[in-house]
Amino acid sequence: MRKLFLAVCMFSFALVPSIASAKTNHQVAIVIDDFGNNMKGTDKMLSLPIPLTAAVMPFLPSTKEDAELAHKKGYEVIVHLPMEPIKGKKSWLGPNAITTDLSDEEIRKRVEMAIKDVPFAIGMNNHMGSKATADTRVMRIVLAVCKEHGFFYLDSKTNPKSVVRKTAKEAGVPVIENKLFFDDVYTHAHVAKQANLLLQKTKEEPVMIAIGHVGPPGEITSSVIASYIPKIKQEANFVFVSQLLPPRPPLFSPN
Ligand SMILES: [Zn+2]
Repeated sequence: MRKLFLAVCMFSFALVPSIASAKTNHQVAIVIDDFGNNMKGTDKMLSLPIPLTAAVMPFLPSTKEDAELAHKKGYEVIVHLPMEPIKGKKSWLGPNAITTDLSDEEIRKRVEMAIKDVPFAIGMNNHMGSKATADTRVMRIVLAVCKEHGFFYLDSKTNPKSVVRKTAKEAGVPVIENKLFFDDVYTHAHVAKQANLLLQKTKEEPVMIAIGHVGPPGEITSSVIASYIPKIKQEANFVFVSQLLPPRPPLFSPN
């Protein structure tokens, strides 16, 4: 009985994501990147009592475990695809990253493999990728594979010159863009400043998306998010990223 009660508690927020406590119908989605490598803060993030979207990197030691745990706890799972940045080391990307020197066939193969490697994924966003997301050839292939799998794409927006939105629209892939990073600096003061900015923005904008990370800032970011949940709930309803997208067209429409 106790087990059943716990299960109901864990899933209740997923089933009723928009409890009408907010003053407005504004919506906010929080995405946590970099799951898949036994990163710091994983357990805390996957215990936050809101509809969280977990972006899991493929081909890493805890890829499957983290995706399965996130799904089991009622969170949404997406593939966190490693993509080439303008600056930075290749080693930061992990295995089978999408780089602009790859052939069309190799890019397609790697995206297919990444999707297969992350169980329960229903969408994708980019890990790094300031170079690759500004490359139309690369993004056309990535998004064509997303389209075939019925995935949406969240542009992490690591480059203001990203071609993702335009290319996704051409490909017919539902697309949305990140608006704020919690933790590009790993200090409590910075993460709290960003959380406060998110709180202010949820008052002004009908839809907000913010990305945080497990890993070096994981413990700080999870505790700051936890402390801001009640304040943000007054202004907006927490939802999954997929709930912010337009309804997907049917795969087949009979004449
Ligand atoms: Zn990342």
